[in-house]
Amino acid sequence: MHVLSDGPATQYRNRANCFLMSSIPYTWGFKRVTWNFSERSHGKGAPDGVGGVLKHKADMHVLGGSDLKTPMDLYNYLQKSSENVTVKWIEEEDISAMDEMLPPSVRPVTGISNRHQVLSFFPGKIFYRALSCFCKYPEICPCHKLSKLEFDHVSAAEVPYAQSSDCGSSAEMPNAQSSHPVPLVSPMPSQKN
Ligand SMILES: [Zn+2]
Repeated sequence: MHVLSDGPATQYRNRANCFLMSSIPYTWGFKRVTWNFSERSHGKGAPDGVGGVLKHKADMHVLGGSDLKTPMDLYNYLQKSSENVTVKWIEEEDISAMDEMLPPSVRPVTGISNRHQVLSFFPGKIFYRALSCFCKYPEICPCHKLSKLEFDHVSAAEVPYAQSSDCGSSAEMPNAQSSHPVPLVSPMPSQKN
């Protein structure tokens, strides 16, 4: 799974998001995850282009005399009228459910605020670096100051689709078992960053 997003300092680029991207996607059957942040204030990327097309479509619809009075109206219209873009409605509870999967404390990801790619090829482990690189994908290349971090709270045994060490990483992959595994789903106080 490859995520492309803009790069606000705390909205996505934080320890909670790094933890979740190194655990949840494996439960959905994904084998590798990369999250790629565009540089702040450096123009528009592909996601902005998609967003722009949807906004233009909604503008034209309203200019044509139709009403879009609520977010649900907008969602229903875009879902029906956008053939090449999948639009998802995300409930408040869906977001809360993700928050509840965070353990009470998550290890800080030092320097994440000025990195532009986070990769997870094994549950509970992330690599992150200054710039995105896929030169050896699906192996992890050492380019652009690659750093590594292992979270304490994810054990491979709890992740049904976790693959074994055949992920082919050329970087060092430590043992899958963490010292203090806790269930993926556990109550948590709200914690960001
Ligand atoms: Zn590379």
